[in-house]
Amino acid sequence: MTMAEKHTNNDLENKICTFLNDKEDGATALQIAKGVGLKKASDVNSVLYRLEKTGQLFRNSDQPPIWSRQKRSAATVKNSQPTDALAEELKKMMLSDGKSNGMKSYHLAAKLNVPRSEVNKCLHGLSRSGEVKRLGETSLWKVDETNGGGRLIKYKGEFQDCSIELKEDSRFFRDFELVSVLGAGGFGCVVKAKHKLDGKIYAVKILENTIKASREVKALAMLKHPNIVSYYTSWDEEAFWINEFNDDDSTTSSQYPTDSEQRDSCSSANGAENSGRDLSCLFIQMEFCEKGTLNDWIKKRNEGTKNKFKKALHMFRQIVSGVEYIHSEGHIHRDLKPENVFIGEDETVKIGDFGHVTITSSSPVSRTSETGTLIYMSPEQTEMVYDKKTDIFALGLICFEILWKMPTVSEKLKLFENLRRQIFPEDFKNKYATEHHIIRKMLSQTPAERPDVKEIAKYLEDFLLRNSTALEQKSA
Ligand code: ATP
Ligand code: MG
Repeated sequence: MTMAEKHTNNDLENKICTFLNDKEDGATALQIAKGVGLKKASDVNSVLYRLEKTGQLFRNSDQPPIWSRQKRSAATVKNSQPTDALAEELKKMMLSDGKSNGMKSYHLAAKLNVPRSEVNKCLHGLSRSGEVKRLGETSLWKVDETNGGGRLIKYKGEFQDCSIELKEDSRFFRDFELVSVLGAGGFGCVVKAKHKLDGKIYAVKILENTIKASREVKALAMLKHPNIVSYYTSWDEEAFWINEFNDDDSTTSSQYPTDSEQRDSCSSANGAENSGRDLSCLFIQMEFCEKGTLNDWIKKRNEGTKNKFKKALHMFRQIVSGVEYIHSEGHIHRDLKPENVFIGEDETVKIGDFGHVTITSSSPVSRTSETGTLIYMSPEQTEMVYDKKTDIFALGLICFEILWKMPTVSEKLKLFENLRRQIFPEDFKNKYATEHHIIRKMLSQTPAERPDVKEIAKYLEDFLLRNSTALEQKSA
């Protein structure tokens, strides 16, 4: 995305938020699109999902999604569940059928004398709640007697509901008990799982086995450091991966994401289009960081009364130490941000998510567009010619965010836009004169003017040693 496109997107985000501010009952994507002067739901869908991810919008029902600035209420959630009576009839019918090879939806519809679209809609709802499952790529449905117990992993993807159906002989299913889904992105998901033999809890990342995934696992396996998430093992297995695109007011399939593979639909129900495929999946077993992400810590700190300056600086020092090691091993992380920094046992800070890692070279080189998160991204990374100094720019923004409370997302976006041009709040400059000096250098437009991570580490060491009393005072 170019900077110009980014600005257009920000404008659209603001317009959508303003439009929804006085829509108490929310609005569908089509209504929102028209409200902001556009034509189709697909003109705003990706922005809506992004706003949902950053906590600025909520989806109050799934079919169709109703978007609003308010969190969903119990009543609206209930509306998105399948009709109870029909659901019960369907399950009874499938169980009494006694066949282990499932039933077709038209067969169920005919037996119950209910329109097929109703049956489909209900089956998809039941599938989302783990009560029924579809067998392989067929249109055969069956009651899931395991109720998702480990063989079915359901999660909310970036733009859709997803589920990963593991095979009978799945290694994950054999060795682990699924505890919960920790997070998800465009790539797949990360689950919390208990190992059946050693009884320990792990984080297992499940993603399509691509070259990018292989780069991620190789980097993680190679990097061993107290401030980097520990890697245990990895393996691949076949799984049936289903992406369900929920859409509203949809009349044509052009409203869905354009990836034709993703639209390789198996069957559809009103308001939802499902695509499923057998995929080779990579499973990465890693240390579970029980205290969440640095982003969670920052959010909590922002809600409290103290600024926790001393703790913040110690955490930042650990991040720097992790990055120093990553760079010394010849890698660039490329997606440093608080969501990718985890907090483990004893509050140790650990860098994770090597989904965008790459290898350094002696001079800046032209690279692919597979890059990290826009607001933390250095200016040159958006232009695709960069070196390890790109991580320093992100570190500068993280250092500011860890020190300075920004209570709302919009405030953060506004401040970051200024920081990216080395413009700091006056209060910050007064209160944190020394830190301002180093962060400013880290945010230099010219990569060569940014300090390297060794200099930052040294600076922090000296500073922390010299100022322990001052730090106590600033933390109050
Ligand atoms: P990518 O940037 O590669 O597309 P992503 O950002 O969605 O992927 P991760 O950052 O690896 O993927 O993980 C997503 C979420 O899963 C994290 O934000 C976090 O909530 C959770 N998570 C990941 N790894 C761990 C871990 N080791 N311990 C605890 N939670 C984790
Ligand atoms: Mg991440």
